[in-house]
Amino acid sequence: MFDQNRIDALRDAPIPPAQHLIDGQSCPASDGGIMEVLSPLNGKVLTTIAQGTAADVEAATQAARRAFDDGRWSGLAPAARKAVLLKWAALIEENALELAVIGVRDNGTEIGMALKAEPLSAAGTIRYYAEAIDKITGEIAPTAPGTLGLVHREPVGVVGAIVPWNFPLMIGAWKLAPALAAGNSVVLKPAETASLTLLRMAQLGLDAGLPPGVLNVVTGLGAVVGEVLALSMEVDVLVFTGSGTTGRRLLEYSARSNLKRVYLELGGKSPNIVFADAPDLAEAVKTSAAGIFRNAGQVCVAGSRLLVERSIHDQFVAELTAYMKTMPVGDPLNPATAAGAVNSLRQLEQNLQFVEEARAQGHAITGGARILEGTGGYFMEPTLVTGVSPSDRIAQDEVFGPVLAVIPFDTEEEAIRIANGTDYGLAAAVWTSDLLRAHRMVRAIKAGIVHVNTYGGSDITVPLGGVKQSGNGHDKSLHALDKYLDLKTAWIKL
Ligand code: ADP
Repeated sequence: MFDQNRIDALRDAPIPPAQHLIDGQSCPASDGGIMEVLSPLNGKVLTTIAQGTAADVEAATQAARRAFDDGRWSGLAPAARKAVLLKWAALIEENALELAVIGVRDNGTEIGMALKAEPLSAAGTIRYYAEAIDKITGEIAPTAPGTLGLVHREPVGVVGAIVPWNFPLMIGAWKLAPALAAGNSVVLKPAETASLTLLRMAQLGLDAGLPPGVLNVVTGLGAVVGEVLALSMEVDVLVFTGSGTTGRRLLEYSARSNLKRVYLELGGKSPNIVFADAPDLAEAVKTSAAGIFRNAGQVCVAGSRLLVERSIHDQFVAELTAYMKTMPVGDPLNPATAAGAVNSLRQLEQNLQFVEEARAQGHAITGGARILEGTGGYFMEPTLVTGVSPSDRIAQDEVFGPVLAVIPFDTEEEAIRIANGTDYGLAAAVWTSDLLRAHRMVRAIKAGIVHVNTYGGSDITVPLGGVKQSGNGHDKSLHALDKYLDLKTAWIKL
C-alpha cells in the first residue's frame, strides 16, 4: 500500500479541473465560475474547482429530493444498500494511495497519517455502517392488551453535510456513511481548500452503484454554497464539522428556514493533563507532542492545553522542548515528516498572530515562526507557550495550529477546574498510575472523550461529539445512525 516510488510519481501529476457532482453528472457551475486551488506545499495553483452558485445548490437539493422520493435508494432493502456500500469501500481502498496523495497536495497532512486517516479510515467507516444497517430493527412497544405499538425507524430524507478541510475524507465519511446506509440522499459541501478527494470519493460511490441524485457534491464558498444549503427548504437534517462561528450561523439559517435539525461538531481547547505519577513520562512527552503537532495541529480533538503537575513541570517542559526539536517539519509527502503544512496562508497568519499576541503578553515561546518560506509552502515550527494562566486567550481560544499552551497545576481539584474552564468540551486526556483518580477524572471532565494514559486514540466503534460549545450529536458508532433515522409510531387497535 505504501509505495514511495508511486507517491513520488504522483507528487507532480497534473490534476484536472474539478466540477460538481449533481444528479449523477459531473457539471460546471451554472455561471461557469471557478476557483483556484492552491497547494499548501508550495503555494502554487494545483487545479481549479467549480465555484458553486445558489442555482447549483438548488439543482443538487432537488436531485436529492427526487432520488429520495422515488425510492431508488431509500426504497431498497437494507442488504441491497449494504452491497453497494461495500463495493464503494473496496473501490476507495483500491484507490487509496492516489486519494491520499491528492489530499496531501490539497491540504498538507503528512502522507502516513493521510493514508490511514483519510481513504483507509473512510473505507472502514463506510464498511462499518454498511454492515450495521441490515441489523438495525424497529420495536414493538409494551402497550396494553388490545393495542399494538410499533416503532419504525425511517430515513429522514435529504441530508445536507458541510465539512472542513483538515480530514475531509474521514469526517466526510463519518456523515455520508450512516446517512446513506440509512437510505437518505445527501448534498455534500466540502471546504474550499479540500474538495478534490471528496469529489473523487463520491465519483467512486457512483461507480460502485449509488443511483444518480443520491450523493451530490457542490463545491465553492461557504458563504454561498454552505449558506444556501443550510437555508434550503429541501434539506431535512444538516450535519456540520467546522468553526463555532459557522455553527452559530447554521442554527440561525435553520431557524430562518424549515427548522431542519442541525448537528454540530465544533472546535475544542482540549486539556491534556499530566500528573506526577504518570506511568511513563517519556511516553507522555512523545504522545502529547503528537497530540498537538501532527497535521500541524489541525485536528479538532488536538490536545492544545497541556496541564502539568507543578512538581514535574520544569522537567516535562524540558523533555518536551527537546523532543519537539527532533520532530521533522516540512514536505508531507516525505514519510519521515512528523508535521506537514498548514492548510492555507490565512490559517498560517492566524496561527502566527496568536503567537505574537502571547509573546506580547510576556509568555515564553519556543518555536513560533514560519519556516521553509523558500518552498513557497505554509510551514510552521511546533510551538510551545509556557507561563500561561488558564484565562489567557492562548489557553481559551482554539488556534487550530501547532501551538501548545502549558499550564502548571498543584492539585487534582485545580486540574479539573482548569480543564473545565473553557467554553469547549470536546476531548481530554489524563496521565496517571492511580486507577481511582483516572476514573474520578473521567467523570469530572466535561468532554465527549477522555483518554487515559494516551492521547487521540479511538476507532469507529465509539462515538465522537462535544459538550458545551463544542457541539451536539455524535459522529461514529451506532449512535450516529440516530441523526439520520426518524422514529415513527404505528398505533394499532387489535
Ligand atoms: P474554518 O474557519 O476552520 O475553515 P469554517 O467553519 O469556516 O471553518 O469551515 C467549515 C466549513 O463550513 C467549510 O466547508 C466552509 O466552506 C463552510 N462554511 C463557512 N462559512 C459558512 C457559512 N456562512 N454557511 C455555511 N457554511 C459555511
